[in-house]
Amino acid sequence: MAARLIRASQRLWGRPCALRPLRFARYSHSGGEERLETSSAKKLTDIGIRRIFSTEHDIFRESVRKFFQEEVIPHHTEWEKAGEVSRELWEKAGKQGLLGVNIAERHGGIGGDLYSAAIVWEEQGYSNCTGPGFSLHSDIVMPYITNYGSEEQIKHFIPQMTSGKCIGAIAITESGSGSDLQGVKTNAKKDGSDWILSGSKAFITNGWLSDVVIVVAVTNREARSPAHGISFFLVENGMKGFIKGRKLHKMGLKAQDTAELFFEDVRLPASALLGEENKGFYYLMQELPQERLLISELAISSSEFMFEETRNYVKQRKAFGKTVAHIQTVQHKLAELKTQICVTRAFIDSCLQLHERKRLDSATACMAKYWASELQNTVAYDCVQLHGGWGYMWEYPIANNVRDPIALHLFQHLPFCSNRYVVVSHCGFNLPFPNV
Ligand SMILES: Cc1cc2nc3c(=O)[nH]c(=O)nc-3n(C[C@H](O)[C@H](O)[C@H](O)COP(=O)(O)OP(=O)(O)OC[C@H]3O[C@@H](n4cnc5c(N)ncnc54)[C@H](O)[C@@H]3O)c2cc1C
Repeated sequence: MAARLIRASQRLWGRPCALRPLRFARYSHSGGEERLETSSAKKLTDIGIRRIFSTEHDIFRESVRKFFQEEVIPHHTEWEKAGEVSRELWEKAGKQGLLGVNIAERHGGIGGDLYSAAIVWEEQGYSNCTGPGFSLHSDIVMPYITNYGSEEQIKHFIPQMTSGKCIGAIAITESGSGSDLQGVKTNAKKDGSDWILSGSKAFITNGWLSDVVIVVAVTNREARSPAHGISFFLVENGMKGFIKGRKLHKMGLKAQDTAELFFEDVRLPASALLGEENKGFYYLMQELPQERLLISELAISSSEFMFEETRNYVKQRKAFGKTVAHIQTVQHKLAELKTQICVTRAFIDSCLQLHERKRLDSATACMAKYWASELQNTVAYDCVQLHGGWGYMWEYPIANNVRDPIALHLFQHLPFCSNRYVVVSHCGFNLPFPNV
């Protein structure tokens, strides 16, 4: 089914795949009872573990890991200074079949299952490189186009996005409104069959490099609520009046380009409307479970990486004539962290299974995001402490883990960005969280 995924893995390994033909059915089977879960595995990041995956997934994972090791890690420091990754990286990722993994082949995607897409998210977490905005491009932007776009839009954008030649972004947030999406001011007015788009957006991931941006705009001010008057538009780089502002100077996620975008009376053809007029809010609500799951996955993978990095460190670092790992309180702390990470991993894997079967509901996705991103912050803090003073030094991989996770908490619109309140609201409670 996903011949391109297989070919990509083979290319990366430079040899034909001698194993039985790989099959990435969209509704794939799990890998079998004999596979270890993370709690019993030698390392949390081992290849060949977790029942949700199969041998075919392992082969794909090997190739993705190799890609991050060879094409991303060596350049990441340079990209952190530049505030963006190279375009070349996007095209290489496209060639290796790392973009649009979970987008159907008939639309021009790779045609892999959700687990294969999750492998790309996880391997990015294990590489400790937050620069490439692949997951936003492949698993947030592309699904809006395939799920709500016209035949022409799909044909025009998806193959190019899968190849990495067209980079996608989504622009919802404005300087004056983030959590409260209904406060969006950017608007589009009809002019004959065209639309005139005016306004600005802030904090847009992939914004600087973007070739196509899904822009959320008000199209009906008279709607019975602001949510009923919001539409999506596909705005392409180079359109008259579409201006990219500065790349924002962030506290973390340094190699990820985050930009301001301005729309000065951009004339858009009718064909730039994505989906139906005034249905934007509904589309956002539909796609939120996947977006939340993606964030949970990034958070738990990063926690697994930090744990392994710290375990290695304390086994080598000496204090009081023995390694730090010999100190009992350190062992207790590591055991606590590992327990929290493995319990969370089990929950996230079950969410992946649910989502693969299209059964992940909003409340469960909120719980996953809330829990995993909070855990990531706890793990980051404790792991830096376990590195002592060296944990505070930039050249130590653990250092950037303290600043980057905060951002994951933020990536949330609707109805509130605070993770706890999202859970409370989606679970149908209105009480402050501690009383629930
Ligand atoms: C690195 C980065 C990348 C981003 N990428 C994108 C992107 O690609 N596209 C995009 O559109 N946006 C993006 N964002 C924006 C992000 O989604 C917003 O920052 C987020 O939605 C919060 O909005 P805000 O910053 O306006 O905070 P505000 O809405 O001003 O919130 C301020 C504080 O008030 C709290 N709060 C707000 N409302 C409530 C409430 N009702 N109940 C309880 N607490 C509340 C919030 O939790 C927060 O702590 C990005 C942000 C960052 C930092």
